[in-house]
Amino acid sequence: MSEHVPVLIAGSGCAGHTAAIYAARAELTPLVLEGNEPGGQLSLTSDVENFPGFPEGIGGYDLVENMKKQAERFGAKYRYGFVAKVVPGTPITCTLDDDSKITCDALIVASGARARRLNVPGENELFGRGVSSCATCDGAFYKGQEIAVVGGGDSAMEEAIFLTRFASKVRLLHRRDSLRASKIMQDRLLNHPKIEVHWNTVVESVQGTPEKGVEYLQVLVTPPGGQPESQKLEVTGLFLGIGHIPNTEFLRGVCELDEEGYLITHLGKTNGENVKTNVPGIFGCGDVVDTRYRQAITAAGMGCKAAMDAEHFLAERKAEAVMSH
Ligand code: NAP
Repeated sequence: MSEHVPVLIAGSGCAGHTAAIYAARAELTPLVLEGNEPGGQLSLTSDVENFPGFPEGIGGYDLVENMKKQAERFGAKYRYGFVAKVVPGTPITCTLDDDSKITCDALIVASGARARRLNVPGENELFGRGVSSCATCDGAFYKGQEIAVVGGGDSAMEEAIFLTRFASKVRLLHRRDSLRASKIMQDRLLNHPKIEVHWNTVVESVQGTPEKGVEYLQVLVTPPGGQPESQKLEVTGLFLGIGHIPNTEFLRGVCELDEEGYLITHLGKTNGENVKTNVPGIFGCGDVVDTRYRQAITAAGMGCKAAMDAEHFLAERKAEAVMSH
């Protein structure tokens, strides 16, 4: 027999934890499935300086752990697992990765996004052996070494700056001649004595062996108005900072997704309503939805909205059931 919960929350980043706090305080005893990356991407972030309420900043891991403790204090339950399949209905049936089933009256999807890969030769073979998507996790392995970070957004800036704590030199590789990152992060990066930016540079392959790790990168550099030139870049690590892919595979054919796979939730009829999917009872919040802001604070805000809208949905359904008797 499958377990039944009023509210199931898939994902335990900022959005999932905040939804859990609100749903638990509404006495909906939510169950949170922690997913593959408990705490979400924030748990891999070193210092969070822009979450209001922490004037000195706070570690990403500490921030999500605090949120979890707060949700648990009000009765939210947590367990490992992720949703593999969803069948809408009353109730909604979710099959987990271990084939167990949980039914719920409302499902809050807060499954986030995962790091994008370059898809070049050598990248997968050397992932975890010199190729990484987490500077916080792996940076300390590169003390005194020359390493590269690829990407031109805030994530790449943050990773590159963080990695200067360990590396002797950080090479930022960007495929264009201007950065996408916020002005403050660009300034910090461009003025850093240990960071060199390689403009118009594309990684062609990662060279090395699983035993020795990364030995060098083959890159293609296209100078403005010039011919592309293949170059060898001697680094022992490559950090990926090129964005993310939403974790929505389990919703294909169930909920409306955009062309990149992000969950579409702007279907509410009232201004500010942006957590309702096209399926009654399924709500979305955080990075799985948000292609624009993608901040811890916006994810938390959406988690709050998702829980409040789920609560309204359940209350309306209950009222309808009473009326029909
Ligand atoms: P992003 O803003 O989408 O930037 C991705 C970067 O990777 C872009 O520069 C892009 O190049 C490059 N890229 C994508 N695919 C590539 C490929 N196949 N090969 C080479 N380069 C590739 O992603 P993000 O940096 O992860 O940031 C996502 C959001 O989170 C943003 O809203 C950001 O502000 C936010 N964020 C904020 C903070 C902070 O405030 N502390 C920290 C991290 C992230 P192009 O520029 O050419 O497209």
